[in-house]
Amino acid sequence: MGLLYLGTPLVWDEAKKYADHVRSHGITQFLHIWDRLKDRQGDELLWGDEIEYMVVSFDAKEKNAKLSLRQQEILEKINSAVDDISAGAPNNVCVPKFHPEYGRYMLESTPGAPYTGSIPDLLSVENNMRYRRNLARKHLNPNEIPITITSFPRLGVPGNLRNPSMIHATPSPATVYFYQKKSQTRTHVSRPCTANIRRRRGSKVAINLPIYFDEKTPRPFIDPTIPWDRAIYPEDSEAKRGAALPDHIYLDAMGFGMGCCCLQLTFQACNVADARRMYDGLIPIGPLLLALTAASPIWRGYLADVDCRWNVIAGSVDDRTEEERGLKPIERKQFRTEVSLRQRHLYISDDWVNRPEYNDNPITLRREHLQPFAHTRHISHLFIRDPLVVFSETIDQDDTSSSDHFENIQSTNWQTLRFKPPPPNSPIGWRVEFRSMEVQMTDFENAAFAVFVVLLSRAIFAFNLNFYIPISKVDENMARAQQRDASASKKFFFKKDVYATGRSATIERCNQSFGRQNTSAMKCTAEERQKMKNCFPPPPLPENGFAYRGPVEDEYEEMTMKEIMNGKGDNFPGLLALVDAYLETLEIELRDMEKIQQYLDFVRRRSDGRLLTPATWIRNFVTSHPDYRKDSVVSQTINYDLLVAVDEIERGVRRAPDLLPADYRGGDKDTRDPLIFIF
Ligand code: ADP
Ligand code: MG
Ligand code: MG
Ligand code: MG
Ligand code: MG
Ligand code: MG
Repeated sequence: MGLLYLGTPLVWDEAKKYADHVRSHGITQFLHIWDRLKDRQGDELLWGDEIEYMVVSFDAKEKNAKLSLRQQEILEKINSAVDDISAGAPNNVCVPKFHPEYGRYMLESTPGAPYTGSIPDLLSVENNMRYRRNLARKHLNPNEIPITITSFPRLGVPGNLRNPSMIHATPSPATVYFYQKKSQTRTHVSRPCTANIRRRRGSKVAINLPIYFDEKTPRPFIDPTIPWDRAIYPEDSEAKRGAALPDHIYLDAMGFGMGCCCLQLTFQACNVADARRMYDGLIPIGPLLLALTAASPIWRGYLADVDCRWNVIAGSVDDRTEEERGLKPIERKQFRTEVSLRQRHLYISDDWVNRPEYNDNPITLRREHLQPFAHTRHISHLFIRDPLVVFSETIDQDDTSSSDHFENIQSTNWQTLRFKPPPPNSPIGWRVEFRSMEVQMTDFENAAFAVFVVLLSRAIFAFNLNFYIPISKVDENMARAQQRDASASKKFFFKKDVYATGRSATIERCNQSFGRQNTSAMKCTAEERQKMKNCFPPPPLPENGFAYRGPVEDEYEEMTMKEIMNGKGDNFPGLLALVDAYLETLEIELRDMEKIQQYLDFVRRRSDGRLLTPATWIRNFVTSHPDYRKDSVVSQTINYDLLVAVDEIERGVRRAPDLLPADYRGGDKDTRDPLIFIF
């Protein structure tokens, strides 16, 4: 979530009175940061991951696995253990951190301090993740396990939570859902956020995921578990009036999206221009990594025809009014007409390689924001939104020292990439957060994808890679990435010539600036590398720069995941080869290189279909379960057996050769050197 203040949240009718106030002060706050820090230079590459867990409570007698709503108690326990460990640890050691997340069954952990870009740091990631998982595990009840699964298969099926006294609390009219009780998500900010989205929108959120039709799934599929005729609350009739579609799984609460777990990475860039380049470079990568990490094929007890959570999140936070959704004619003359979901991107780099044609989606901006944000339409695009949560205590802020109003709007735009400005009065620099990945069931996989994306982000700078394709094609890739079996069977738009910014010009420049004549490879001495580190200049505008500017449509084509990752023809090397080329520019000890190659080899096997995505593996587990009736239903027993299997695989007790490398060892082994050392 991101918003974690203490205070009194206003109800929507009150909060909306402050929308303009929050927006205008948020803008002022951003502009203060911008004016102060736009020239800030030389921040080093620091980065870190975030992993989210679901606490699952197992009942072996009943063969039932439910979500445990003990977040608060558990966090208190873990964090007091973390304090004890910290107190006994040397000064240069930072112990991993745990944070609350939207759902009361969720935990989030991060390393105690960010990593540097060094190889030893890169190789400590997996151990750090394992240490965190085991720390959580140690502070749960004996029948509870922290599971890294993206969507809980039976979330929203009655009876799938522990602690019945809380579940049966009477729902308040602001948060009445068929499938989720307010108690599930009753954290300080999540509840008002949920209620205010619903109030602004004028109805419950309505997410419809296509059902996976198996041999015995009824056609048409009209979900018998929807209480179609319930009439306790006014919202109850929405399902019947068209909110719930036939042949779909209907999800009517924000918690279905916000209650998912993901794997996020945050990178610091050396200055704002580099942060903008990194942001743009990673935008086309977002959908690919979503497809590669796909892990959520089951929703509310049914197999879906999608493998990922992303559209569920988009629908979960769809606070647009009927007018904004284009469902109702606009009554009074207003500047805001149909607007996109809170997920839409813009490229933001001010490099010449960022052609205006790439931002080809129509977007709505507020006229009064055009001037202040002339340099960054991205920010004005975020600021068409109303704030969703306003706290009475923090309405008036000192805009020179606070960024809370800015963060309020920023953190409720749920995009695959987030551009994070430096917080006021902190040593932290300009950062970019990569947010599309689904969390993997083991930390080996989580570490492998983290390592891959970190190295790719480095390669983007080292070789001035150009991944720009029209943003509408990125959106199309996002839609394809979520479809069933997308990684193995769909094609994605990608750049044909990733060196389009002029690789040779880049290498020459590198050699010039470091006084080297040999242009055969980008090998540099350690000292040279130190100079280059994180501060590689953007490509100069070539004299014949406009030679590259043919029609945008000629710059990209559709490729399979295997081709995008492993190369196609003579001109496109594939992302894994780019990462390898980057590694070649470093001096890496053989043993370290072997470990990195294990991760990259795993990513390669996932990308060419030799290993399954977690989504496909989960789907196969269900459809081959003896209790499965070929009707798309994931029963209590199947759910239980699945989650037991996930835990056993993670611990290395059960083999899954179609999912993991043959030599995978359990996550509870090998946790030496778990802490982060700051030098
Ligand atoms: P949020 O929930 O707002 O996305 P978190 O604080 O939970 O952010 O996690 C941010 C991640 O960024 C953590 O992994 C943390 O280690 C990492 N991080 C912290 N400081 C920096 C920094 N200066 N540069 C890059 N990453 C950082
Ligand atoms: Mg989180
Ligand atoms: Mg967060
Ligand atoms: Mg934060
Ligand atoms: Mg976080
Ligand atoms: Mg985050």
